[in-house]
Amino acid sequence: MTTLTTTRQALIDLAAVDHNVRHIAATTGVPVIAVVKANGYGHGAFAVAETAVAAGAARIGVATIDEAVYLRQQGLRAPLMAWLHGPSQRFDQVIDLDIEVGVSSFEQLQSVAEASRNRAAGATPTGIHLKLDTGLSRNGIAPADWERAFAETARLVDAGHLRIIGIFTHLSGTSVNDDTQQLHRMLDACALAESLGLHPKIRHIAATAAALSLPEARLDAVRIGIGLYGLSPFDDYTSADLGLRPAMTLRAQVAAVRRVPAGAGISYGFDYRTDRETTLALIPLGYADGVPRQASGRGPVTINGRTFTVAGRIAMDQFVVDVGEHTVAVGDTATLFGDPARGVPSATDWADAAGTINYEIVTRIGARVPRVIGGDH
Ligand SMILES: *Cc1c(COP(=O)(O)O)cnc(C)c1O
Repeated sequence: MTTLTTTRQALIDLAAVDHNVRHIAATTGVPVIAVVKANGYGHGAFAVAETAVAAGAARIGVATIDEAVYLRQQGLRAPLMAWLHGPSQRFDQVIDLDIEVGVSSFEQLQSVAEASRNRAAGATPTGIHLKLDTGLSRNGIAPADWERAFAETARLVDAGHLRIIGIFTHLSGTSVNDDTQQLHRMLDACALAESLGLHPKIRHIAATAAALSLPEARLDAVRIGIGLYGLSPFDDYTSADLGLRPAMTLRAQVAAVRRVPAGAGISYGFDYRTDRETTLALIPLGYADGVPRQASGRGPVTINGRTFTVAGRIAMDQFVVDVGEHTVAVGDTATLFGDPARGVPSATDWADAAGTINYEIVTRIGARVPRVIGGDH
């Protein structure tokens, strides 16, 4: 076990990201849109995006235009799309940076077209992907507006104000039946678009779960988020079952070790009391770092090859582990989660302990935790 060079860190294994992109591309057989919104699900958006592109991803996807602008400013040159915008969003910035816009309403279509129409002479019209609501009842153009939006888009494309790149939608993942119904609505919508003179190059619907489990939903591209990071979107399949490698390892140096008598109360509210003389290890990670307080008394931590459980409440900056008579020293590495193939807990174990999903565990890792790039475990 190497000694950490920082008090706490999220070790980001870009070789795992590279593997996951190649594995999913090979499994699905269609181009991958690598989703790096929310700082790459906490892993670092730019490093993940660059790795994904080098591994063959065709396009990068983020939620907001600010996220896309950041990636361009860092130097990302691959095709890049952003799909969630508030009513005050301005679209002038996307032109020079060649950011493709996911368009979710007739009003957005007009705002994007207006900005693109006013672009500098010689600049390329903004590329768009029309986002349809096929049943998730969230973001996307409502079915009642499809015909009008398609016709207007075709007109704007013919007039040279916009380029149409894609049509897409997002699944609920409720059941194969529900997802298949959405797929059929999507295919009908694409036929309607074609009949109105609109010819998108790529139709995309599947995120990681459908990309891996519903082959007919792969269409012309798959939008892969959680799978990039090596985590499973399914309750009943692990990363290893899917051939994926978790990319983030969250760990810290044991900051203090203390011998206490039986009956010692631990952390706020004394939810945990020692039932014998024992040794406590202090781990300098707390809910400010994204360690969920809901996992108090339940979250697993591996130290020196042995897995313990958080004792008492997780505080803002720290928590305690009761290590009994096991040898633990200040400076030893405590691993909260990583690749279970290496004998440590998984992000999913923490999700289970906190009553949430692995997506939330990695995405919420706080800004105070340095992301350290490397595969050196
Ligand atoms: C976040 C997101 C994805 C990625 O989903 P995963 O389940 O993480 O693969 C794909 N498409 C859209 C529209 C999203 O918002």
